[in-house]
Parts: sequence; C-alpha cells; structure tokens
Amino acid sequence: MNKKEKEIKELVSRLDEIFNPLNKEVCATCKINCCKECSKTMAFLPFNKSDFFLELKERYGFNKRKGFILKDGCRLPREFRSFVCISFMCFKLKGFDHIEAYRISNRLYDLRGY
Ligand code: SF4
Ligand code: SF4
Repeated sequence: MNKKEKEIKELVSRLDEIFNPLNKEVCATCKINCCKECSKTMAFLPFNKSDFFLELKERYGFNKRKGFILKDGCRLPREFRSFVCISFMCFKLKGFDHIEAYRISNRLYDLRGY
C-alpha cells in the first residue's frame, strides 16, 4: 500500500467511526431518504461510464431503480462513495465534529478526485 492509499484508508476509517453509528441509529428510520436519486445520478460518481464504475456496479450490486441503497443503508463501501455522498451531512445527524468531517471529505476529494 502506498502513502496515498494509506491516507485514504485512514480518512475513510475515521468517517466510518463518526458516521456508521449515526447512519445505523438515525438513517435507518429516516423517511427523507437522501439516497433516492442514487440510481438516476449513478451514485453521483463522475466516472459512471468507466470500467471502474462497471466493476463497482457488479461487485456491490447496483439496482436499476434504487442504485446502491438497501433497507439498512448504502452497500457501497465509503471509500468508493462520491464526494457528494461523503460530504452530505444532514440536519438530523448530530453530536459529531462537523469541521473535522468536512476537512476529511475535502481531503478525500483532493486525494481521489471524486
Ligand atoms: S443522512 Fe439524513 S436525510 Fe439522509 S437518510 Fe440519514 S437522516 Fe435521512
Ligand atoms: S450514499 Fe450510497 S446509496 Fe446513497 S446516494 Fe451515495 S452511493 Fe447511493
């Protein structure tokens, strides 16, 4: 693993630490469903015609109607989610350091470019 990959892994793991409990607790019962455009927008990923995106679709299962969303959350690992998905922090998610979370998502954008 090179230096860049190692940093991406650390950043994603920190986002998982912050958001996994909140996603489980708050998103599981949310009626707003901020992921409803997943399929229409191709998960907000800018390379939706690339081989990499086709591989993600196949590996994690992309539903034509629902995209990557399942009843209990997104099936795409956070490391592959778009900047839109990792930087969206809705008003219902509380009790975490927003500045830290924005710093991490911006750094991920700098490193991955999406
Ligand atoms: S992030 Fe917010 S809007 Fe989206 S599912 Fe969770 S609680 Fe609902
Ligand atoms: S978080 Fe997952 S399910 Fe939601 S829009 Fe992004 S890729 Fe789709």
